[in-house]
Amino acid sequence: MRIILLGAPGAGKGTVAKALMAYDGSVQISTGDILRNAVKNKTELGKKAQGYMGRGELVPDDLIMEIMESRFGEPDCEQGFILDGFPRTIPQAEALKKLLQKLHLKLDVVVNLDVPREVILDRLTTRRTCSNPDCQEIYNIKSKPPTEDGRCKKCGAPVVQRDDETEEAITKRLETYNEKTAPLIDFYRKEGFLKTITSTSSDEIVSIIRREIGST
Ligand code: AMP
Repeated sequence: MRIILLGAPGAGKGTVAKALMAYDGSVQISTGDILRNAVKNKTELGKKAQGYMGRGELVPDDLIMEIMESRFGEPDCEQGFILDGFPRTIPQAEALKKLLQKLHLKLDVVVNLDVPREVILDRLTTRRTCSNPDCQEIYNIKSKPPTEDGRCKKCGAPVVQRDDETEEAITKRLETYNEKTAPLIDFYRKEGFLKTITSTSSDEIVSIIRREIGST
């Protein structure tokens, strides 16, 4: 499958992407995960991105497009991809359109996960993430807790709260989403790819998407 998951931070894109991967070998591509790894490993990209991320702002489009151009060239993308957190701006969406045309690839669907603001705020403040860059399993202290001593149930690494999940950074990320990313909903509606889903259950969202792209 080749899909884009749109939605505010905390809408469930990461959880849904991970669940979808299991079905046909399509790979989840999360620009947020790629950037967090780069920050952790103190690479040039990480040094450039860190300040923006900590403030809850977007990383410049040209850096993101460099990441994506090289990511699409990797062999694991051949089976399909689930874009999680990209594109985030109209210029990124325009650049992605050109890149896909160049690669002769067509999207199946762009899913807009439309989740009420109260649910988003509650999820983001209670979310925890596995600190192992190769795992990054997502937990929630209320609905999906890690082990009692705060470790990942899959790989055993410590589970942490992300630096950009302070109240201040969350407020800024939601503002950034409304200003820069929400316009993509109209962009993809006009392109004829948009499917809006209002459910808050990841299982239900996954079934709707699979039905939509005919993989059930
Ligand atoms: P996420 O994990 O998708 O919420 O991303 C975490 C942070 O990484 C965002 O708040 C941005 O600072 C940055 N980021 C991730 N994806 C993008 C993107 N496509 N464009 C610009 N910045 C991004």
